[in-house]
Amino acid sequence: MFDTNKLILTYRGRVALYLMLKGLGVGRGDKVAVQAFTCIAVPEGVMATGAKPLWIDIVKDGVTMDAGDLASKLDKTVKAIVVQHTYGIPADINPLKEIANDFNIPIIEDCAHTYYSTYKGKRVGTFGVGSFYSFEWGKPLVAGIGGAAVFNDEHLYQKVKGIGKSLVYPDWKKKIKLNLQYYAFKILNRPILYWPVKRLFHILGSLGMAESNYNPVESDKELAADFGMTMISSFKQNLFRQIPDIENNAGLRISIAEKYRKSIKNCSTSIVPEDSKVVLVRYPLWADNKKYLLKAAKKQNIELSEWYSSPVHPLDQHEWLSVGYQAKSCPNAEIASKRIITLPIHKNVSNTFIAKAASFINKNAENE
Ligand SMILES: *Cc1c(COP(=O)(O)O)cnc(C)c1O
Repeated sequence: MFDTNKLILTYRGRVALYLMLKGLGVGRGDKVAVQAFTCIAVPEGVMATGAKPLWIDIVKDGVTMDAGDLASKLDKTVKAIVVQHTYGIPADINPLKEIANDFNIPIIEDCAHTYYSTYKGKRVGTFGVGSFYSFEWGKPLVAGIGGAAVFNDEHLYQKVKGIGKSLVYPDWKKKIKLNLQYYAFKILNRPILYWPVKRLFHILGSLGMAESNYNPVESDKELAADFGMTMISSFKQNLFRQIPDIENNAGLRISIAEKYRKSIKNCSTSIVPEDSKVVLVRYPLWADNKKYLLKAAKKQNIELSEWYSSPVHPLDQHEWLSVGYQAKSCPNAEIASKRIITLPIHKNVSNTFIAKAASFINKNAENE
């Protein structure tokens, strides 16, 4: 679990990343290495500093950063490396760290999907200068919407604490909207309601009545506001209330993943580094007919998610250049986004759902 003594809470996870990069002195003219097969939150956090993302491919048949590709792309303008533990699968940190040390570049760990996985006996979040977390719907701890920066480096902590003093609370209208959304999430977070709720939020979002997961990259004004804000008080309370229960939260995740693993016969899950313990946020599967599966799952009302739908979720190919991603520059990430689907893992996932989802996958998934 993260160290609550050296913790800075922020409006969202991307704001925590932004503050840590600022604390490292990252700005215009710099680059930050990030993995492709991520969500827009990460390049947004980088670009808010004025720096540009440097896109690194993921390992073949896996979902985390490839050390070889990192080594071949690094240059003097790279001021930080964001190592993401996608779905809770730890990145193979040792080779990445070796390269980072050679170039003397700090590592920040993206722990948005896990606070509990371990790599060679050590908890994720302990390998770099610091790590960041996200507490919005879909993450292992849901507080509403929010993020945290956690530090292993005292100097960086002090620096970011200084910058963090100027963060403000969202205005009352935004607070009401966020609270309503949180309670809606608590009631509606069930596999059986996944597709109907997705449709509803899409409609509310387009009417401006729900806080979207994603800021449009071109909207500078919206970006600036989010990056100056802290987490609202009621969400901080939601977060701290759950902390004593995280051991159970992790145990439940491990047991649901184990049930999926036992009952799904015809899809492989992602490769995992040796000697690691994995606590997943969702259960990833590789299939050749992803598009068909999503359509069929929607029809049969079985929760199945497409994230990540692209190397920079949820951007379509024509939007990739807005975050500096060149098509074909990370082929493994592009393949993964065309193939990976994920099943839910949380307390409302019942044995009945697991059996139904497994039988759906076993019947419909295609693999070469
Ligand atoms: C959710 C997420 C974040 C942070 O998201 P926020 O919406 O800013 O809280 C960062 N990285 C990854 C991989 C994520 O999934």
